[in-house]
Formats: sequence, structure tokens, C-alpha cells
Amino acid sequence: MKYILALDQGTTSSRAILFDAKGQSVQTAQQEFPQIFPQPGWIEHDALNIWSSQLAVMHQVFDQSEAHISARDVAAIAITNQRETTVLWDRLTGQPLANAIVWQDRRTAGYCDELRQLGHQAMIQTKTGLILDAYFSATKLQWLLDNIPGARARAEKGELAFGTIDTWLVWNLTAGRVHATDPSNASRTMLFNLHSLDWDDQLLTLFNIPRSLMPKIVPSSGLLGETDASLFGRAIPIASMIGDQQGATFGQICLSPGMAKNTYGTGCFMLMNTGHAPVPSMNRLLTTIGWQYPDASTPAVKAASASDSGCCGGAGGCTTGGCSNVGCGAGCSTPVRTDVTYCLEASVFMGGATIQWLRDGLGIIASASEVEALAASVADVDDTYLVPAFTGMGAPIWDGHARGTLIGMTRGTTKAHIARAALEAIALQVADVLAAMQKDSKIKLTELRVDGGASKNNLLMQMQADFLGIPVVRPRITETTALGAAYLAGLAVGFWKNIEEITSQWAIDRCFEPAMTETDRQVKLSRWHQAIERARGWTQH
Ligand code: ADP
Repeated sequence: MKYILALDQGTTSSRAILFDAKGQSVQTAQQEFPQIFPQPGWIEHDALNIWSSQLAVMHQVFDQSEAHISARDVAAIAITNQRETTVLWDRLTGQPLANAIVWQDRRTAGYCDELRQLGHQAMIQTKTGLILDAYFSATKLQWLLDNIPGARARAEKGELAFGTIDTWLVWNLTAGRVHATDPSNASRTMLFNLHSLDWDDQLLTLFNIPRSLMPKIVPSSGLLGETDASLFGRAIPIASMIGDQQGATFGQICLSPGMAKNTYGTGCFMLMNTGHAPVPSMNRLLTTIGWQYPDASTPAVKAASASDSGCCGGAGGCTTGGCSNVGCGAGCSTPVRTDVTYCLEASVFMGGATIQWLRDGLGIIASASEVEALAASVADVDDTYLVPAFTGMGAPIWDGHARGTLIGMTRGTTKAHIARAALEAIALQVADVLAAMQKDSKIKLTELRVDGGASKNNLLMQMQADFLGIPVVRPRITETTALGAAYLAGLAVGFWKNIEEITSQWAIDRCFEPAMTETDRQVKLSRWHQAIERARGWTQH
């Protein structure tokens, strides 16, 4: 058994990657599938397309392998996936009742506003760690039940099943024998209680969702079923499920409290490991499950002690069960679940997409890779700032009325300055998010691990180190999402022995050391914040 087969089911494509015991990807196949836009603000996927494209790439990695790798060489299957996307299907036929509602879909935004006005935000945030928003699965599922004729009655009778994409893939891989999800995916539904680690009855009632629809929650790492033998000629164990961003965090070996990774894709996604207790956010970040990894060498539950991470240290402010530490004297009473790791998460909407705008909107570069040379052709931005608030600003500003702003230009400003300001804007947004995360977690970060398409840009990475004042570290393997899922599966089936073994595989491609003085850094951040103020509240209320 020489390989782990990782399935990376993303928003625009399905991929399959074979990893060897060194954690190297030896074979990859990828297939895009259609995005469906029925009306403005609505985004759907045909769940059958998701499954057929995923199955096709799994066959493709074997078919295209010159080394004749086959299903017999696979120790286990690992699953990582786009999160929050909601599927509802018939348990008997396996047919979806409608297209899947994709995480980006905004159709339930108005309903979320109503729930907020009714005062449900605080309860939801305390229980789920999430901001009440259409992004998460709960209101999408409620919408399906309310709008598909007969769906609610059939759900009440137990005829239907709900799942996020991990659950949908496992259902199909096992020919309907397994209906399960893991806590990292469950924690994005807005129906999962971060403290009890189960579906929450009060939330199921609020969103009017019958419990019979819900999948069983199983650890992110562990044998959860096997593929139906008809698919690959033999049954292959399925041994992990994890949401894509959490998968990348595990793949970046951010396994101790205070370690963080940032993925520079279309948007930027930052996650910080906060240890075995959920850290509530005071800065409108998300508290989420990283993974549940039952390490055989450590008991899954232990009594808390004063040194546990995530503890308020007796300073108070614990919500009931929100701090794991019974010893801190602040009234906490939940023992530590050492098998569960929590994270703080924040996203920046316009990451690499800012560079796409330079290419498609302004036409000043022909491809994203050209931006580095253009930006490097000037020594600095000459006090020009681009605030890419094209769709408002997310964490930690949260201003839906902010709009894109380019400020500080003179007659000497060129496209090179604008390109440089665009790169700086990505790094400055990430710096703001990280500052909020450090405030919430009370942890000072010592380095930031990076991945994603735009992390290839050395100038951007140097700017990031400068604006953060800490080293930015890019690993050699940047397939971190799939690798994280592969590690969780491989650990479950003994393909890798323990955490130490996978930790030793993580290798640095390049480390960017901060080279800016503290004074210059403060000036930079202060000018950036002034520019943001100019961008705020622009659209008419
Ligand atoms: P996603 O997974 O969101 O599709 P990727 O990780 O594939 O994103 O990264 C693609 C993004 O990275 C695009 O938005 C693109 O503009 C940006 N990008 C790619 N190469 C560079 C580069 N050299 N410099 C800056 N941005 C880049």
C-alpha cells in the first residue's frame, strides 16, 4: 500500500491527488464543472456533476499513471472539500432534490437580517462561533425545505438526507451506506454546537430542521467506511474528512496553539490554531473546529489544568463551556477534549482577485505573474494606496458600504505604482486580520506559514513579512489542502506512524524575514488605515 488518494472537491473543480509516503504528490487529475447562476446573487452546483467529476478524476489518476498505480496500491482515501455548500437528497434513490446551494449564494441574506433584528445573533455566535450570515448552511437548508414542494413533509418522515460536500461524496463512495460528516465541516453549518460537539436542538428548532436529516458526526481522522467495491474493483478504506481551509492548516503542520497559515487565493483565508478550547472572538472573526484527531497516544478527554491553552487565565470572560479550563477559577466547567483542535478564522475577500482586477479591469498586466516585475520596477508606492473594497470590507472592518479607493496619486504616479499598491493592499489586509486574531487569542504569532497561488509572488511575501514584523514561511509543498487531508487519513490507517513523522516532512522553500523598521511599519499601517477611512461608507445607505 504505497499511496493515499486525496480528493480535493473545490468550488470550481474536482481534483484527485496521489501522495506517497514522503508526502509528495505523484499523480494529479483535475476536472472543472459548471457553475449555475439562476438569478443575481444565486450560485448553484448540480450535485451529480460534483460526484461524476470527482469519480472521473479518481479513475483518471490511475489511468494516466505511467507507473501503473491502481486501487490496490491505495492505503486509504482522504476527503477535503469546499465548505458550507448544501445538498439535500432522497435516501432511497440518492437523487438530489434540487441543485446544491453554494457557499457564495446570497439568497437568504434578507432572512439573516430578520433573524439578526429578532436578536438571535449573540446566541448563534456563542454556540457556533459564527457570525449570523447566509454564507453558512443552516439558512440554505431551511430554504430548500421551504421551497421544494413536499420536501419538508418528506424530511419529517425521514426520507431525506442533508449533507455538505464531504457527506455527499462519502454517501456516493459508499453507495449510500454511510451518512456522516466531521466536526470541521459540521462547524460551518451554523447548526453545530462547538462546545457539546453535536447538532444543537435549539438551532435545529430555530431553523426548523428535522434532526433525522442530519449526518452522524465522526472524527476528521478515522476509518469511516469503505468505497463500494463496484467503483474501483475493490473496497478502499475512507479515512478522513476535513473542510478545505482546515485541511490546509493541518497540511501546513500548524499543530500547536498560536501557529497560523494564510492561503493567498482569490481571497485570503487565515486560520490560527488556538488549541483545545474555542476562543470567542471580540473582533468578528469566526471560531471554528480545526479537526478532530483521536491520537492513540493521548487520552481524548482530560481534566483541565491551569496551563491549558485557550484558558482565560482567570481573567473571566469565559462563556459557559467556552473555556476548557476548570482550574482557572472563572467558573468554567468543561473538561479538555484533547482530540479536538479549534481555530480562529478570518477571510479577506479581495486577495489574488485584486491582481485579477489589474489584469481584467485595468488591463495593465496580461497575466497575474507579470505583476511582480511591474511592481518591482518602482522602489515604493510613493504614498499611493489602493483599498480594494470592491464588495465592501470584511474582517475586521465589516463595512458593506465601503468601496474601492485609489488615493495619493500625483502626476508622477504610474501603473507600476498602482501594481505595487495592489500587492501592498493584499499584505496590509492580511496584517489587519492577523492583528485582530492576536487580540482575540492573546497569542503573539512568531511566524506565518503561507500557500495558495499568489504566495508564489516573492515581492508580496516580502511585503507581508515587513508589514507583520515576523517571518513569512513558504513550504516546498504548497498542495497543503489535499496534503492535510491525506495526513489525517494516513495517520488513521498507520500509513504514517505519528505526528512527528509528518512534521518531519514539512520543509521550507523560502523564509522571508522582515526588513522594515518598526517606525516605518507603524507609519505604513497608519497611512493604510487613513486610506481605509476614505473608502468607508461610500455607497448611499
Ligand atoms: P483559488 O484557489 O482561489 O482559485 P489559487 O490559489 O489558484 O486561487 O490562486 C489564484 C489567485 O492568485 C488569482 O486570484 C491570481 O490573480 C493570483 N495570482 C496568481 N499568481 C500570482 C502572482 N504571481 N502574483 C500575485 N497574484 C497571483
